[in-house]
Amino acid sequence: MYYSIAIDGPAGAGKSTIAKKIAKDIDFIYVDTGAMYRAIALYFLRKGIDGHDAERIAEECPNIKVSLSYDEEGRQQVILNGENVTPLIRSEEVSMMASLTSAIPAVRAALLDLQRNMALTSNILMDGRDIGTHVLPDASLKIYLTASTAIRARRRYDEMCEKGIDCNLDQIEKDIIERDRQDMNREIAPLRRAEDAVLIDSSDMSIDEVVKAVVTEFEKIK
Ligand code: C5P
Repeated sequence: MYYSIAIDGPAGAGKSTIAKKIAKDIDFIYVDTGAMYRAIALYFLRKGIDGHDAERIAEECPNIKVSLSYDEEGRQQVILNGENVTPLIRSEEVSMMASLTSAIPAVRAALLDLQRNMALTSNILMDGRDIGTHVLPDASLKIYLTASTAIRARRRYDEMCEKGIDCNLDQIEKDIIERDRQDMNREIAPLRRAEDAVLIDSSDMSIDEVVKAVVTEFEKIK
């Protein structure tokens, strides 16, 4: 039997930073499910498909194949129809398109089995929006990681500035609020805390403190 750790929470809560560190510390495979939705969003953007056009999107889904691989340093790479699109999926445009299109059932169905199957073959730490509630309802440990909107926006802003990407703090905060609204209010697999998830509010915590809090929770159930 393998262990699975689900980390869910809103945009910019620091899930991927935390999850990567923990996976390294405890030698688990890290699965960033947001990257899968982002890869699909990139496909639709490239085709010029309207993110609200659920019918057209459902028609296109059979033509999309997303898979994951890991480089020599263990970093996840997301492959879209044979192309490594990892460097192309972090823009705000892709974020918004991912949030819109991830609400469409055909898109979620296209990724569900892939995500579930990964948990059958290794110890994994998976982050996203619906991991504890939908993808892995029997996960060994569930964490709901959040932080105030202002702090999440500030962190995203700092991250983008560090990468040299031109951005605006107010716009980032607006986008985060809009993404949360979409992710929490969609009909299928909305973002919410699973009843048995441990709530961590990282607003006043450092990365190391959050990592420690999660590892402590894991030690309890191991
Ligand atoms: O986590 P990240 O910001 O990369 O996710 C991008 C978008 O993908 C989210 O805003 C959400 O709409 C969608 N997503 C999802 N379910 C997941 C992971 C991400 O709907 N498990």
